[in-house]
Amino acid sequence: MSLIVLILGGTQEAAELAEKAANLPNIQVKLSFAGRISQSIISENCRIGGFGGVTGLIKYLQSEKIDLIIDATHPFAAKISDNAAIAAEQLRLPRLMLVRPEWEFVMGDQWIEVENIPAAAAILPSLAKRVFLTIGKLEINAFTQVENIWFLMRMIEKPSSDILLPKGLILLNRGPFDQHLEKQLLHQYKIDTIVSKNSGGDATYGKIVAARELGVKVVMVKRPMLPQGEQVEDVEAALAWLKEF
Ligand code: NAP
Repeated sequence: MSLIVLILGGTQEAAELAEKAANLPNIQVKLSFAGRISQSIISENCRIGGFGGVTGLIKYLQSEKIDLIIDATHPFAAKISDNAAIAAEQLRLPRLMLVRPEWEFVMGDQWIEVENIPAAAAILPSLAKRVFLTIGKLEINAFTQVENIWFLMRMIEKPSSDILLPKGLILLNRGPFDQHLEKQLLHQYKIDTIVSKNSGGDATYGKIVAARELGVKVVMVKRPMLPQGEQVEDVEAALAWLKEF
């Protein structure tokens, strides 16, 4: 008898896991995206869009007869992780979180760690003039009221036109980003400070290395709390968990 695993996605790891898990005997995969960015490749085992909170998620898990959940969402996607934890608990479904390790401070880094995005916006006027904002589009409006700072804002897709943007330039691009090109970018735009989430992983670490080498400050947003539960750090370990069933 085969088991159906719901993979909550939106990360490179989730996509890789979904592909590899689909090759396991006795495992059927459903990969779920929030739908924040346009998906170019949608296969029949994907679904897009919110579930409608915990209640909607529970209904979905029941109607699709999901047996297992792997939460492979981004470490800053705290709401869906909480919802998955509550829903799995209620339905007594096994749940695993795939969470890539955080970046660690190393000698030469000039990090200013803050609790969240509003705290990053609040601290900027005391230390920056030209900022590279690498937090995506979702919370960009937190910086709209910040005065006397020019922003280079990198994101995958433009925010909707009703969102007020801070003064500066939008750069549309999708990682991975090469550290040498990141260095060029910092140099070209005379960036003195980067705002980054502590996302972890290699794909966006180039800017952190480039900042270290150029003496650029990094306002590093700490990760939100994740729900309790079993965690692994990489795709192989998540596959090993799946093979146990
Ligand atoms: P969030 O705050 O945790 O979630 C907000 C709502 O979006 C959830 O309550 C849920 O809606 C829906 N949602 C989130 N992930 C979903 C998924 N994989 N499948 C179906 N619905 C989902 O998440 P977020 O920070 O907005 O991030 C949205 C997505 O972008 C996530 O899938 C995440 O992996 C990806 N992502 C986020 C970041 C980031 O920095 N936050 C960076 C890269 C990628 P309902 O309550 O209606 O179910």
